[in-house]
Amino acid sequence: MKEIRGTSNRYLFIDLTNQAWRVHQASADDLKNFLGGKGLALKIYYDLCKDRLAEIDPLGPDNLLIFANGVLLTTGAPCSARFEVLTRSPLTGYMVASSCGGPFGEACKTAGWDGVIVAGRAEKPVVVRFDDREVVFEDAGDLWGAGTRRTQEELLKSPKDGAAVIGPAGENQVLYANICSGHRFAGRGGVGAVMGAKHLKALVARGKEYRFVPVDREKFARTLKKAKAHIRRSPFTQGLKAYGTNMNTRFGIDSGYTPVRNFRDRYHPRTEETTGEVMARRYNTRHSTCRYCSVLCGHKGMYPDGKMRVVSEYETTGMFGSNIGNFDTDRIGVWNEAMNDLGMDTISAGGTIAWAMEAGEKGLRQTELSFDHHDNIGQILEDIACRRGEGTELADGTKRLSEKYGGKAFAMHTKGLEFAAYDPRGCWGHGLSYAVHNKGGCHLGSYLVSLEVLLGYMPPLTTLGKASWVVFCEDVFAGINSLQTCLFTALSIMTEPVVPKYLPKAMLNVATIVFPKISQSLMNWSVYADFFSAITGIPMNQWQFKKAGERITKLERYMNVRMGQTPGEDTLPDRFTKEAVTKYPVASAVPIARMVRQYYRIRKYDPQTAGPSEKDLRRLGIAV
Ligand code: SF4
Repeated sequence: MKEIRGTSNRYLFIDLTNQAWRVHQASADDLKNFLGGKGLALKIYYDLCKDRLAEIDPLGPDNLLIFANGVLLTTGAPCSARFEVLTRSPLTGYMVASSCGGPFGEACKTAGWDGVIVAGRAEKPVVVRFDDREVVFEDAGDLWGAGTRRTQEELLKSPKDGAAVIGPAGENQVLYANICSGHRFAGRGGVGAVMGAKHLKALVARGKEYRFVPVDREKFARTLKKAKAHIRRSPFTQGLKAYGTNMNTRFGIDSGYTPVRNFRDRYHPRTEETTGEVMARRYNTRHSTCRYCSVLCGHKGMYPDGKMRVVSEYETTGMFGSNIGNFDTDRIGVWNEAMNDLGMDTISAGGTIAWAMEAGEKGLRQTELSFDHHDNIGQILEDIACRRGEGTELADGTKRLSEKYGGKAFAMHTKGLEFAAYDPRGCWGHGLSYAVHNKGGCHLGSYLVSLEVLLGYMPPLTTLGKASWVVFCEDVFAGINSLQTCLFTALSIMTEPVVPKYLPKAMLNVATIVFPKISQSLMNWSVYADFFSAITGIPMNQWQFKKAGERITKLERYMNVRMGQTPGEDTLPDRFTKEAVTKYPVASAVPIARMVRQYYRIRKYDPQTAGPSEKDLRRLGIAV
């Protein structure tokens, strides 16, 4: 095996229209400023498309689909086998980046590529195979139409291979189709629809040609030891290890963020039947995770029909459970398996179906879908993936449906991206996180529910300090995401410092909202900066790392504004801001306008454009 110190910075540029390829070499400066992975992919997209950002049709040949690996991949750093898929989203119309923990990233990187840039559109459906020196374009044949499982079974010919594939949903350009690798997914924003529109069924990398070693091995070993110790002793990690992300159901019941019937209510007693504890017992669960995972949130288990299945994540359990009026987790497991094979995002699918159920109840639109029976859910999922019957419209997501039929007040999305299973009336900062995230209603932009509820660091129902924390978490998380390590590592690593760990909860709750800046300076995310500098040899401290995250967030925002994003889109639907009374005993409506104003002020965004000024971009070294 050949050895590379640090990272190659080499991207494989594939032109599907002309069945040609070339090497795209990223610069060392861009690696330093954008940290690799998602950040560098964004910079590459910007450099290659900046003159035509507004005109790019997400489903047209001009859009680029970029697969990006992080500098940590293959080094043994915790949860570092993730790769990013970045493109202009057909669901939102803005930039989207979605991360996946499947084997494609490792195969691609050890074939000598830090990522793949896919341009153009093939005339007929193709599979593209590549290693370190050759790219082969093959006719997709009868794999076009096949599910993600069969596609991978047929394409993987050697243990050195790793694939990224789409299912029928991607082929039919369902606007929330995903990309599958192994049993993990780049789920959100319709990255699979972009791949389908390019007539690209699969990318198959043959790796194991190169191994990557840190430039500073001793520093890397020290950092690794520290990170692993933090992860091992974190109570948050232990919860994920035991119950997976379904541990969040219990927090939702207790704190009132459970989505019930299209987020109409925030509490239902039968969600007790869908907790992580109940599911772990019922399915006798064991781990089934992304590669090189140290946190172990992924689980599989034995279902009553005798089949071993991947257990649905919390977000899927919520969206196909209480949010559509269903409390049968066996059924959720079967639907989850079907959606994984069809290749579609479970969060957007669940949100869209819930909207259709409510719109049907209110007489806005004819449908057989109902909160009271669920026998037809399996069929509607297939119909969505194949764009048949009612599925044809549902394949376009909640935003477009509500623009056509009315019902915007209960269309549960921001910028077109459906919310995950956290009702922000139980965690206001998380509501701000949904409202202002560049990607739309994604729960992971700053994941403030983790600080408000899961870790209990700040009171959830106040606006105080929340904008500052959203900005802080967005920046640090953008850096962590660009290293392509799992965000769940952050919740053990960043909470390790003595002050947040040992300060009595009541005092911590006051300090975080009254003195957010001081509280943030007492967190410690230097592990990530140390990993980056140990591997690449580029000096970096935690504040420079955070600044790189700010650079990534603001470049992405600037690109979104150029693509047409307006200030009015940084908001939440009326249901969250006006309907305070639900079955949860505490009334709450999210004061979103106030928090967005505070957020713009801290970000220095112009309220007229919702974007950063040219001066601020220049401060960050971004040429516009
Ligand atoms: S914690 Fe979960 S999402 Fe993160 S890398 Fe591990 S299995 Fe994947």
